[in-house]
Amino acid sequence: MVLLLFGPPGSGKGTQSRLIANWLGIPAISTGDMLRAEIQAGTALGQAAQSIMASGGLVGDELVNEMLAQRVSQPDCHNGFLLDGYPRKVEQAAFLDRLIDQRCFSKPVILHLDVPLDALVGRLTSRRQCPTCGRIYNLLHQPPKRAGFCDDDGTPLDTRKDDQEDVVKERIRTYDAISRPVIAHYQDTSYYQIRGDRSPGYIFEEITGILEPLVSRNGARCRLGKACDSRNGPSKAAKPSLDA
Ligand code: ADP
Repeated sequence: MVLLLFGPPGSGKGTQSRLIANWLGIPAISTGDMLRAEIQAGTALGQAAQSIMASGGLVGDELVNEMLAQRVSQPDCHNGFLLDGYPRKVEQAAFLDRLIDQRCFSKPVILHLDVPLDALVGRLTSRRQCPTCGRIYNLLHQPPKRAGFCDDDGTPLDTRKDDQEDVVKERIRTYDAISRPVIAHYQDTSYYQIRGDRSPGYIFEEITGILEPLVSRNGARCRLGKACDSRNGPSKAAKPSLDA
């Protein structure tokens, strides 16, 4: 199964993607996290992305597409994967369509977390993240037990550079302008809109309620993947897949 999680910055995508991926046993892939890791590692891609990300703009399609293609070709993606923050443009969606086709997955399932835009700025500027395990906190609703430190591994928490108010507003503007055509691209796909202005546990319950029938329709969480045709190389029929 390929899941795409959509929602504006601050809608809780990171929190839900971790919960869903853990529940389904597939990797959660955040292009934003991957780009931040490239910046941290000082790679050429990281250097190209750094100033664009700091201003709240979008990194070029070619760079992001290539990074994504490499990631989903890893063995842990054989049974499916969840994408958070990708595709962000129709061109990226078209690239992903080809990738999904090559890898013999069915059409993706879209989960759209909808949060009123005026609630987002406060949420984002009070967000903190653990640089070690990626766990996300919110000083308003989900503070860590010890102020400033991760509950799980004790690492000092970070504020993302792009969570400053002016950059947050630019990211929300960018999202609002570009998300509509991307979501429209998936109108013939399984598309579910979920109210994101509720507690994470409640939202996750709604999401599992949506996904459970899709997963169990196949008899089990994993089923045998469908065979690839000869265009795509050897058949993957013997590999277990979460492809719904
Ligand atoms: P959020 O959804 O909270 O804005 P992300 O972590 O998904 O944050 O993304 C942070 C930044 O990384 C974006 O503002 C953008 O600059 C860059 N980025 C992430 N994913 C993509 C993508 N698919 N295409 C282009 N740029 C991206």
